[in-house]
Amino acid sequence: MQYLFENVRVVTPEGDADWLLTDGARIAQIGLGNAPEVPQAQHIDGSSGYLLPAFIDMHVHGSDGADTMDATPEALRRMARFFAAHGVAYFLATTMTASREAISRTLRNAAECLGTQLDGATLLGVHLEGPYINVKARGAQLADHVRLADPAEYEDWLALNVIRQVTVAPEFAENRMFMRSCAERGIVVSIGHTQATYEQALEAVQIGARQATHTYNAMTGLHHRAPGVVGAALTCDLLTCELIADNLHVHPAAMALLVRAKGTSGVIAITDAIRATGMHEGESELGGQTVYVRNGKATLADGTLAGSVLTMDAALRNLQAATGLSVGALSPIFSANAARQLGLAQRKGILRAGYDADLVLLDSTLHVQMTFAEGRLIYHKGRDLADTAG
Ligand SMILES: [Zn+2]
Repeated sequence: MQYLFENVRVVTPEGDADWLLTDGARIAQIGLGNAPEVPQAQHIDGSSGYLLPAFIDMHVHGSDGADTMDATPEALRRMARFFAAHGVAYFLATTMTASREAISRTLRNAAECLGTQLDGATLLGVHLEGPYINVKARGAQLADHVRLADPAEYEDWLALNVIRQVTVAPEFAENRMFMRSCAERGIVVSIGHTQATYEQALEAVQIGARQATHTYNAMTGLHHRAPGVVGAALTCDLLTCELIADNLHVHPAAMALLVRAKGTSGVIAITDAIRATGMHEGESELGGQTVYVRNGKATLADGTLAGSVLTMDAALRNLQAATGLSVGALSPIFSANAARQLGLAQRKGILRAGYDADLVLLDSTLHVQMTFAEGRLIYHKGRDLADTAG
């Protein structure tokens, strides 16, 4: 199958191009001016919108009534279909702080669901968020199950070879041992749900931490005499910063500050979305706790923010409003930087001939029209792909 995209701004690292041609799973050609004649290709009119690398969401718990911790293939499939409708081609299913057995079950289920999903986003692996965090910075993670890292527990988890990212509080020696084991295996080590000092955050970088989990949220803030984890995240080039760009977890001015401090190569948009995403507002659930969704805001009964109901395309619109940057400038925050962190930058995250045809077509108001993963159409607005499959 070949697709030829025309009448669209093709966002590439070298600037905008005018057309893009795919060939099977790869991008064949990108060019300026008139598109070539390719009679066998399916022509797609981009209606003066944007063609971007498909989004990668490294931190997402659930959507559409399903949650990673449900630990069923159907839950992951529901999530995958929902994400594709919001431009996401790849995601890390993210766990919550829970019992050993609940996490083990979740990891085993994810290990069985890795790989291609014909009508949705592809599961790349698991982001283990907790349980090795600081109870004083737990956010909406359940306090009862917060604990120190224990090799008797995590060696089994690592052996499943499904964890691609961990969120850990680095201020505990036991957790630092776990971080070392993860870094040695090429797992992205992210610091979060932490009360570490600035100095402890830099020590974490020394032993392999390379990311900050939902920067600003559930970590020590920036004080000019005690810069905290936020200060380390803002100034240490080795740390790439996750950001929940929903205007609720972080003020738009603080989002703009982060992008200025880190540059567009140093920030990764995530949704941290939960089961309630894409559902009617009201009561939902996260990590065994009741969540209340009102006016786009998900909280526990005590008002603590409990994940988000954000989607990646909305995050792009929010971040554009907050920073005033162009879609092309912001694009790495939604794909290339995550691809780099996950070791996929040789074939994913940018639009270039020879790279995987992971694409999202947006209209001029940045709403998703179509999503492709490795040349396969995984979402087409207004159409049920299940009807046309096969
Ligand atoms: Zn979190």
